[in-house]
Amino acid sequence: MADLDQSGQQPRQQERLPRLYVFSGAGLSAESGISTFRTGDGIWTHASIDEVCNYHTWRRNRPAVFSFYNQRIAECSDSRPNDAHRLLAQWQNTWGTERVHLVTQNIDDMLEQAGARQVTHLHGDMISLLCTDCDYRFPSGGAGLDPGAACPSCGQVESVKPGVVFFNEAAPEYQTLWRIQQAMSDDDLFIAIGTAFEVIPPERLLPPTRYGRYARNMLVDPAPQRTEFFGVVESEPATIGLRKLEPVVEQMMEGG
Ligand SMILES: [Zn+2]
Repeated sequence: MADLDQSGQQPRQQERLPRLYVFSGAGLSAESGISTFRTGDGIWTHASIDEVCNYHTWRRNRPAVFSFYNQRIAECSDSRPNDAHRLLAQWQNTWGTERVHLVTQNIDDMLEQAGARQVTHLHGDMISLLCTDCDYRFPSGGAGLDPGAACPSCGQVESVKPGVVFFNEAAPEYQTLWRIQQAMSDDDLFIAIGTAFEVIPPERLLPPTRYGRYARNMLVDPAPQRTEFFGVVESEPATIGLRKLEPVVEQMMEGG
């Protein structure tokens, strides 16, 4: 009741400024030289990758699992954020984490290295370990993942796996997708970057009111898919496409 003013009316809601939701896939990091984590160096066949990255079978392959991810980490050690990572981080720092939501399928930390303060990693990351006994996630520390690391919570070693989400493993951050879909208003901006939507389709990200070629649904991808969901499509690599969107995004975010 305290919200009612003297006339008994609800006070005028403060104008809500648009939010920006960015959903990214491998194409965001491709120009940083990071290929999708499942493409190995030839030693790993698809069958063996399915075996090491599989929640049902990882325990019996534990040394190979750690070695596989440590190879991936070593491959990325020279990678640096590109202009697209930097622009996204800059936007989050300009407009704040309340208004700029960065959600990625990537397990690299290029956005964080570029200065982003809050990133949702839907498929986990390469810098943490997860105890499957007590569900405790902790930073790996050091340059790689130590297969001898004990869970700080329960002390187990054998139950600890890399913090990347495996095939057949529950992905707790997927509830973020549902929250975004619920929270996104017609004024908000949605930008998808570098994804073919094979794992997470646009229907799971956009509220049904925004299905179709809605002007504030934007897509950046050199080989764009599912374009029937986007009013703006930049058929470009991430850095170029995002740079092209920059003026319109800034205008819309300032309420224009
Ligand atoms: Zn534990």
